[in-house]
Amino acid sequence: MSSTLQIQRIKESKRSLVDFDNLQFGSQFSDHMFVCDYKDGSWQNPSIEPYAPISLDPSAKIFHYGQSIFEGMKAYKDEQKNTLLFRPLDNIKRLNISAKRLVIPEFPEDLFMQGLTELLKIDDQWIPTKEGSSLYIRPFIFATGSGFHASPSTEYKLIIATAPSGAYFAGKVRVLIEEHYARSANGGVGFAKAGGNYAGQFYPTQLAIEKGYNQVIWTDDTSHEYIEEAGAMNIFIRINDTLLTSPTSDRILDGITRKSIIQIAKDAGISVDIRKVTVNEVIAAAKSGELKELFGAGTAAVISPIAAFGYQGTDYDLPDLENSYASLLKKKITDIQTNKSEDPYGWRVLIK
Ligand SMILES: *Cc1c(COP(=O)(O)O)cnc(C)c1O
Repeated sequence: MSSTLQIQRIKESKRSLVDFDNLQFGSQFSDHMFVCDYKDGSWQNPSIEPYAPISLDPSAKIFHYGQSIFEGMKAYKDEQKNTLLFRPLDNIKRLNISAKRLVIPEFPEDLFMQGLTELLKIDDQWIPTKEGSSLYIRPFIFATGSGFHASPSTEYKLIIATAPSGAYFAGKVRVLIEEHYARSANGGVGFAKAGGNYAGQFYPTQLAIEKGYNQVIWTDDTSHEYIEEAGAMNIFIRINDTLLTSPTSDRILDGITRKSIIQIAKDAGISVDIRKVTVNEVIAAAKSGELKELFGAGTAAVISPIAAFGYQGTDYDLPDLENSYASLLKKKITDIQTNKSEDPYGWRVLIK
């Protein structure tokens, strides 16, 4: 591995073309990207270069066999304009867990942090400072090697691209509990952030949207009796004053937001129960009034409260609570991320 980072700066920044007061999520991209190629058995020639289209052979394996994985993380500015990351080593470790499952060569943790650090310094002006906004960071690796035979590629590309993003506002989310389709299966790749997992979710999600919902609540693939995830987020269920979430598994992604919420909730004195939760139990709690909250948890939205859910043709509304766990926990986690509170866990990483 050669880790001398080559830096090629953009001739003219595109920053003045972006309206930082009206940022969408992940739709405008910073000036530079970090790129590293794998060939002849090693990751080589790491570089930072202008964000630009790439060219690939039509037989590149990514197009045919979907060898592709990604991560999602964010950089924040605190009031002193320091750049902060949140648990970044957990992202690189998970990238490598995904890599292993897709037979993609693992990426060195130190080179990842070195490349990301330099990229954040070069594109410092792209990190939004407005409350609730952040620089969304998308590391991904895909197979660039050519050939129509169904076998792992011998060449790959890692890119880290970034997108200044506004607060992710989903509004009142209505979800449909899935009874037929599944996003993952035992022995499958659901625990990995593999591109194909999301392609497979689009169709059932589209059907749910046609029925007037925004998202699907995934249930287990065999019995559809257990609640597993909310779209591309982990799910939390509050019954009375207990917060429930499914244990991670082959099928359920080990979210960094999920595990941070579990820790923060426990330390705030909230009782957290990590166990399988049945759809029937949630319906019964909704009927008896014991179901207080449902929310999704993931890097993009942090916490996304669910206002209503549908199951077998019936809709169930959730109460509009004033002091919800969702808002309490969201504030606690974002305060840690943005240096507005102490970080007793050592999750924040200062970029210098
Ligand atoms: C990325 C992702 C999550 C959330 O993970 P975070 O580390 O919290 O961003 C949850 N479920 C799925 C399926 C995901 O892809």
